[in-house]
Amino acid sequence: MSKKDYYEVLGVDEDASQKEIKKAYRKMAKKYHPDVSDEPNAEEKFKEASEAYEVLSDEEKRAKYDRFGHAGVDQDQAGFGQGGFGQGDFGSFDDIFDMFFGGGGGRGRRKNARRKGADLKYNLRIDFEEAVFGTEKEITVPRTEECDNCNGTGAKSDSDVETCAKCNGSGQIKFQQKTPLGQFVQTKTCDRCNGTGKFIKDPCPACNGKGKVKRRRTVTVNVPAGVEDGSRLRMRGEGETGENGGPAGDLFVVINVRSHKLFERRGDDILCEVPISFVQAILGDEIEVPTLDGKVKFKIPEGTQPGTSFRLQDKGVPHLKGRGRGDQHIKVKVVIPEELGEEQKELLRKFAEISGEEINPEEKGFFRKVKKALGM
Ligand SMILES: [Zn+2]
Ligand SMILES: [Zn+2]
Repeated sequence: MSKKDYYEVLGVDEDASQKEIKKAYRKMAKKYHPDVSDEPNAEEKFKEASEAYEVLSDEEKRAKYDRFGHAGVDQDQAGFGQGGFGQGDFGSFDDIFDMFFGGGGGRGRRKNARRKGADLKYNLRIDFEEAVFGTEKEITVPRTEECDNCNGTGAKSDSDVETCAKCNGSGQIKFQQKTPLGQFVQTKTCDRCNGTGKFIKDPCPACNGKGKVKRRRTVTVNVPAGVEDGSRLRMRGEGETGENGGPAGDLFVVINVRSHKLFERRGDDILCEVPISFVQAILGDEIEVPTLDGKVKFKIPEGTQPGTSFRLQDKGVPHLKGRGRGDQHIKVKVVIPEELGEEQKELLRKFAEISGEEINPEEKGFFRKVKKALGM
């Protein structure tokens, strides 16, 4: 199976700068990331792009690729086995997030590097009217925060934090690896300090040396008027605490709107069905119609047909962006009475007679249909 040229995959020239390569990759990742893309073969395309970026963004690997082609970097992979591209930690959504929103920053980051905290999601269920007019809600979100007792160091006191002697505080250990293509210097995470670069003599008792604690936090959510079911509100910095002084992640509040027994929403318009009697439909009437702002009077015109829709301007949902509101649509449902008294029936027979309509309810169903078909 022949592999595509990495420059071709990213759509950049062979002398493209790192900036151009990064830009091209971001564009591809945005388009094809399997978590967000609807494109066919998105996963495959994303993997291809990630692989190409992995190599071209690393000057050392890029030079090898330029000289030896795919064989050069494939050997590299086979030789070290770790840090495989296109999958593993690189493909996660958090990484992409970091790249877009200026977090820790992509590849090769160390454990002691500043890193943005994870994003959190909270499902908030609200009433129909609350979504229409907006509301304020208090929610309790469990999240990881920096330990107050040790200010996130994880040590009992500042003097209990030492620079790791094995890696001299870098968190990484260099080692040499021989491959058919020559000797390479690789780095791996320091096993004494787990990559933090620090060694703690006496851990903080409040967090057991983790530097972080779980806490439930109350957050006030301002739900804007006009939000829709499924909307996501982003609350910056309300997610998990960052690593090594990095910024906190964000909290995404996903709005879940309860349905209403009278109203249905379509965009910023409100649909509502109003039952009227057949007499009201025929003669016209002034009726009361429920709206989001309470009842309003509405005139049904004479001779209204079943299923007719009327529009009440500006009685819909406030536009989330910009001014004004949608409309309310009233659909008339003409109710036919199922049981009538003798006097009512008599009047309707009279009505039929005057209208020149022949009604013979005794000859029901099938026989009437047959007679009608035969012209009898
Ligand atoms: Zn602590
Ligand atoms: Zn170390």
